[in-house]
Amino acid sequence: MNNTSPTSPVDGLHHVTAIASDAADNFRFWTHVLGQRFVKKTVNFDDPGTYHLYYGTRLGAPGTAMTFFPFPGVPRGRRGIGETAATRFSVPTSSLAFWAGWLEKNGAPVREGENRFGDKSLITADPDGTVIALIERDGDTREPWATDAIHADHAIRGFEGVTLRLHDGARTRDVLTQALGYREAGSEGQAIRYISTGGSHAGTVDLIMSPGAPPAGGGAGSVHHVAFAVPDDEAHVLAREIIKGMGIPVTPFIDRNYFHSIYFREPGGVLFEIATNNPGFTMDEPEETLGQGLKLPPQHEHLRAHLEATLKPLPQQGSDS
Ligand code: ZN
Repeated sequence: MNNTSPTSPVDGLHHVTAIASDAADNFRFWTHVLGQRFVKKTVNFDDPGTYHLYYGTRLGAPGTAMTFFPFPGVPRGRRGIGETAATRFSVPTSSLAFWAGWLEKNGAPVREGENRFGDKSLITADPDGTVIALIERDGDTREPWATDAIHADHAIRGFEGVTLRLHDGARTRDVLTQALGYREAGSEGQAIRYISTGGSHAGTVDLIMSPGAPPAGGGAGSVHHVAFAVPDDEAHVLAREIIKGMGIPVTPFIDRNYFHSIYFREPGGVLFEIATNNPGFTMDEPEETLGQGLKLPPQHEHLRAHLEATLKPLPQQGSDS
């Protein structure tokens, strides 16, 4: 990068969006088993017959929001290159024994992580096979969302980062370091670690090189896209200019109600988004009742009666059924 390149205003993850096959099963796992707060019940703005479900900590703050498009009965995706191999969450030091027991008790798969770069981690999956890594992180000061079963001393703090599986990663590295504010922090075997220079707790991206592996195929349990965070619209404009300047096609600014978005496919094949931290999930319902009502953007409000009659009802937050 030369001295005249603008510094990226991006700092770590904003949200991660994956594909599910059953909204109620997805809801139960992410609220009850992982102990996340359900912070928004809305629809896919580009396909309003489909839910868009958001989970996170108290406010679903940027860097904590895991979201799903549930397509009823959609077949499972195929693991491979050009996709997010794992979504990584930060948990407190010495909490993995609790998590192993709790996940087993709930019938979730549990295995020890590869523990690259000295990480202590545990790998599990949701009912669709979405790969989840719980990574012990000392000093993550983000306020967790605690439940009756998962107390604050064990609870998820938010994302730690993502692991991408790629053919070689060379051009993805350029996107990370030039457009998204990451720096290389080390390599181990086939993995290279990048860390956000902005200091985000959700600031790790690991690239795993698997040349020769088959390409991934999207479906249930696949991450649809990874969204990175910028503080505001002004920073968004700068981030878009940097991406355009790299010769990468990028969408116009799109209003997602809770944030503003741009999308581009990074050269390794993973769909990236950059989203603004504002206005956030309290823009159309108060903090106390986040997630309780079906929230629709103005352009889809006329569909409300139809959607309330056809979208599968979800259990109540905190119920075990
Ligand atoms: Zn998104």
